[in-house]
Amino acid sequence: MPVPLVLYDNYERSLREFAPLAPEGPVGLYTCGPTVYDYQHIGNYRTFLFEDTLKRVLRWNGYRVRHVMNVTDVGHLTSDADTGEDKMEKGARRAGRSAWEIAALYTQAFIDDLRALDILPPDVLSRATDHIPEQIAFIVDLERGGYTYRTPDGVYFDTSRQADYGYLARLDKSGLEAGKRVDIGDKKRSTDFALWKFSPPSSTRQMEWDSPWGRGFPGWHIECSAMAQQYLGDFFDIHCGGEDHIPVHHTNEIAQTEARVGTRLANFWMHGYFLIANDAKMAKSAGEFLRVQALVDRGYDPLAFRYLCLTGHYRTQLNFTWEALDAAATGLARMRAGFHALAADDGAAGDIDWVARFTAHVNDDLNTPRALAVAWDLLRGDAPDAVKRATLARFDDVLGLRLAAWRPPRQDVPAEIEALAQARRNARRAKNWSEADRLRAELRAAGWEMEDRAEGYALKRRSGVA
Ligand code: AMP
Ligand code: ZN
Repeated sequence: MPVPLVLYDNYERSLREFAPLAPEGPVGLYTCGPTVYDYQHIGNYRTFLFEDTLKRVLRWNGYRVRHVMNVTDVGHLTSDADTGEDKMEKGARRAGRSAWEIAALYTQAFIDDLRALDILPPDVLSRATDHIPEQIAFIVDLERGGYTYRTPDGVYFDTSRQADYGYLARLDKSGLEAGKRVDIGDKKRSTDFALWKFSPPSSTRQMEWDSPWGRGFPGWHIECSAMAQQYLGDFFDIHCGGEDHIPVHHTNEIAQTEARVGTRLANFWMHGYFLIANDAKMAKSAGEFLRVQALVDRGYDPLAFRYLCLTGHYRTQLNFTWEALDAAATGLARMRAGFHALAADDGAAGDIDWVARFTAHVNDDLNTPRALAVAWDLLRGDAPDAVKRATLARFDDVLGLRLAAWRPPRQDVPAEIEALAQARRNARRAKNWSEADRLRAELRAAGWEMEDRAEGYALKRRSGVA
């Protein structure tokens, strides 16, 4: 009996067994993508890595996945309350370039980082600015349905029209209205949100379009409802993002789509919890943040960060420290070296018992810490090399650590030294200690030191020996 895939659905607030909406068709997956007014930080990549793991686990379970991700290159205001400036225009001013230029620059940087982290590219990466007519058509329908009102600065969604508005976040609406006074401009209530904002009459924006309501630009949430519907249909399997999206962005995506087509957009709503640094949220707006490049500059393999993320469950926050990254880098290096030391046999197949153990954990709401532990147990255990190698290579379809592609840093170990080391490892495994000692002495005489590791061995040239 295969282990069912169980995922935590934030809409129902419970673990649910996953079943695709269309048994034959691909699983529809929509993940909210980057806002490209700046680089993405490693916190953002924790969420993208969680989504990548989800996609890999869906594939592990035999599903085809159709993955759509948006790129927010317009319409994201500096405040969730729909006041403030458009972040793109602000970012452009800061960089001394046009909004279009910085969007292209940061989108490319994002794509480069995805590759560095071995995040599988989405099937559709769609820019908000390439979908303005679809967003306008969406708003026109909302207006026809009576879900909108106008103010001097834009067209707003009237959240009072939906009795279940805010269900995803379990919003306390009356509490919000009665609560602290926030500046809501001309909006009727704090939860109402912009669908279309008018360009200020006095100035020309770099990014603006004509619409039935006048020249302006779309609000942030409408792009996801419009593009998700365009590429995945009215109701699809899974929608993801970071935990910050629950109360505003995803709540509003659901409101718009329910108003237009009557569905709550996705069957499962899943959220990655934050990467924090020194117990504070890592955020672009907070100024200091770490890019993937900053890790590379310090000599880390970007996949050490991936390994670090795998060591924490996606539904708990993860505190980033350099010590934690060091530990992850060591774990990754050892796993790769251990894998590399395994004798290859192309004909070997993965071991079904180990695969079942691994599956039980990844199918338990993506329990990657446990799945990683299974990989270590296998590597350190006494299964034959070829079985270990074939099984771990399969696990790596989910883990994404490039175990098979990795090559040890070149130190030109001569073939006869490698052969001696393998012979010694085999002697140790057979508990033939005198032979193991003899081979170690032989290696030393040849100028090599061998370090035994649970997962294999490492070879180093002895210092002072030519
Ligand atoms: P943004 O570019 O700000 O829209 O963020 C891109 C993705 O990263 C979204 O899914 C956010 O929810 C997520 N995110 C933002 N900050 C963090 C963080 N510190 N840790 C994890 N995910 C984050
Ligand atoms: Zn979104």
